[in-house]
Amino acid sequence: MSTFEGCEVTCTACGAGLKGVVAVSVNARRSPAVRQQIVDGTFHTVSCACGAKIRFDSTFLFSDFERRQFVYVAPPNERENFFDHEIEAQRIFSGMPQQGVRVVFGIDRLAEKLRIWDTGLDDITIELCKLELVAETRAHHVTNLTFRQATPTELFFEAPARDGVYLGRMPRLRYHELQIQRSDLEFTYPALFLRPFVAFERLLVEPQSGPL
Ligand SMILES: [Zn+2]
Repeated sequence: MSTFEGCEVTCTACGAGLKGVVAVSVNARRSPAVRQQIVDGTFHTVSCACGAKIRFDSTFLFSDFERRQFVYVAPPNERENFFDHEIEAQRIFSGMPQQGVRVVFGIDRLAEKLRIWDTGLDDITIELCKLELVAETRAHHVTNLTFRQATPTELFFEAPARDGVYLGRMPRLRYHELQIQRSDLEFTYPALFLRPFVAFERLLVEPQSGPL
């Protein structure tokens, strides 16, 4: 079962007070429509009479027992406190397989994980791909790199950048090479493999996890 509760939202365009519905927990199998809204980017939105569409964030749990995916979703502005949220996520999901526990910040990041898993890809390897893209392009300001989609031969990433949108692409072959090197890479970047916040951004603030 998924659980929701009412919430107050302020329209960012006109300042009107709006009533929204916020998730407390989402069961992906029992609420496939909610899962689809997350992927579509329509989850946690409310329309204002002024015409604006307001998206809002909250802390909630996303569980897919069949796929063994257990995601603790916190608001994006909590990202710098990721270590505390990891501890909380591991406490809440303590009875679940820990290799399936994740922490993400924002619904867009949850949607990204679902896209990755729906494509049959491994999210840790995807973060290693991002790390390479950032290093190759010297685009160190690109810290919001997101997996967008995959074709049979390439993976596509994007991020907001100073001059619009940064688009990154990586051959699938390289993805597979990185997967083969997993055990070596786990030694270099242990936090990426062993902690719930599977995001290359953590390496920018955890130098002990390995060099960029
Ligand atoms: Zn409004």
